[in-house]
Amino acid sequence: MLQDQEAHALQMERTFIAIKPDGVQRGLISEIIERFERKGFKLVAIKLVVPSKTFAQKHYYDLKDRPFFNGLCNFLSSGPVLAMVWEGEGVITYGRKLIGATDPQKSEPGTIRGDLAIVVGRNIIHGSDGPETAKNEINLWFKPDELTNYTSNQEKWTYGEH
Ligand code: GDP
Ligand code: MG
Repeated sequence: MLQDQEAHALQMERTFIAIKPDGVQRGLISEIIERFERKGFKLVAIKLVVPSKTFAQKHYYDLKDRPFFNGLCNFLSSGPVLAMVWEGEGVITYGRKLIGATDPQKSEPGTIRGDLAIVVGRNIIHGSDGPETAKNEINLWFKPDELTNYTSNQEKWTYGEH
């Protein structure tokens, strides 16, 4: 069993994570990055941007028929957003676990939203919800040459032999 684990081939994934304007303004950037970094995930892209409203509407296109869509897009475009791409095994699903439920009232303690936010309209962070959205969101927010490719020095210690 141990041998299987040590021999496993790495199944790297990438996900799009963004600290929304409320998280940036509340000084939570380092706290949030630390949680992803400490877990062992690898940062491959990062930038601070103020998205236009049109850009926010593209990002949240799937929610265009929801009553809160306009307010949500106004909010996302109201200030700097820290856009990031994180890489690692299972990072899409586990990133969502680190983030917690959409409504911070329902997020478990220990999660980012559970520990650091109170209301759904100011839940401080976004994370892709599946492989397709991850791909689309990374392509929307980043140009290919903004995504780095490197081997982390800690990889062999985080994953073992492979
Ligand atoms: P997420 O993937 O957990 O961020 O949740 P969704 O994709 O369902 O919604 C996107 C964002 O819209 C959420 O993170 C919230 O900021 C916002 N949102 C979702 N549901 C509501 C709601 O019922 N009311 C308001 N005001 N905002 C909401
Ligand atoms: Mg979502």
